[in-house]
Amino acid sequence: MTEPSPDSRGGPAPGAPARPVAAARGFVPGAAAGTPPAPTDIALPVAGRKLLTGPDGHFPWVGDLPAGTDWVPVGTLDGVPAWAAEVADAEDLPGRWRSWRALAAELPEPPVTLAGRALAVLTWRRTHRWCGACRAELADVPGETARRCPDCDLYVPMQLSAAVLVAITRPGRGGPDELLLVRHAYGPTGLWALVAGFVEAGESLEAAAHREVAEEVGLAIAEPTYFGSQPWAMSGPGTLLAGFTATAIEPSAEPVVDGRELAEARWFPLDALPAELPPAYSISRWLIDAVAVRPRR
Ligand SMILES: [Zn+2]
Repeated sequence: MTEPSPDSRGGPAPGAPARPVAAARGFVPGAAAGTPPAPTDIALPVAGRKLLTGPDGHFPWVGDLPAGTDWVPVGTLDGVPAWAAEVADAEDLPGRWRSWRALAAELPEPPVTLAGRALAVLTWRRTHRWCGACRAELADVPGETARRCPDCDLYVPMQLSAAVLVAITRPGRGGPDELLLVRHAYGPTGLWALVAGFVEAGESLEAAAHREVAEEVGLAIAEPTYFGSQPWAMSGPGTLLAGFTATAIEPSAEPVVDGRELAEARWFPLDALPAELPPAYSISRWLIDAVAVRPRR
């Protein structure tokens, strides 16, 4: 893969007037070049892992923040440029500092995705300050979410970590189909979740699904079917979750957990799922809900 140049991406040359973006609805990630933030642009101030929302519950404007704030472009929301910045004097700013999880539970998907990207980009920048090859300080690449070493020319784009989730079902014995749910030994231990794990280098999404299911619960699955994906702001600087459904090859096989990563795994009839499920804004829950309403064959 050749690295993209500003020309090949079709972006405006530095100093050229920005092209109209009014047609772009919802959230579009990007890294505007050549246009400084305007006071009426959307601002995403970040302190630690929390974001500032104004008294009305929405994100503030750039003009609400002190002059001299170090803004990083993160994209557009309904055509309005959005900028993120780490702020040091958080207590001096009016509004509420909230976690991405709290925002995701309340706001619609486009601003939630924007907030997740702001957290991801700022975390990535904080942890990619120096060249990993020669230790020089990296410089931003205009128009891209990428940095470059001024000394050895190493190109450092923001990279994503892919992870898979698998909703595994088996035919019920005289009743509805059953879904395999697991409880983790750490993190949100009270939730019944799906088998999940990160994709290894050199592995397809489908191969990762087979491997994670075998490793975590000791089961074999038929070829997984792609369901959808979701950028996830709760783990790492840039995680992309890919959801799959799959059926267990041996319907009578019971899950076996290692007791370290997973504490428990159990089959649940689709009409008697537990109440402690992942939150409504997560692809885990979308998968579970999709499987649960699927008519029995
Ligand atoms: Zn270097």
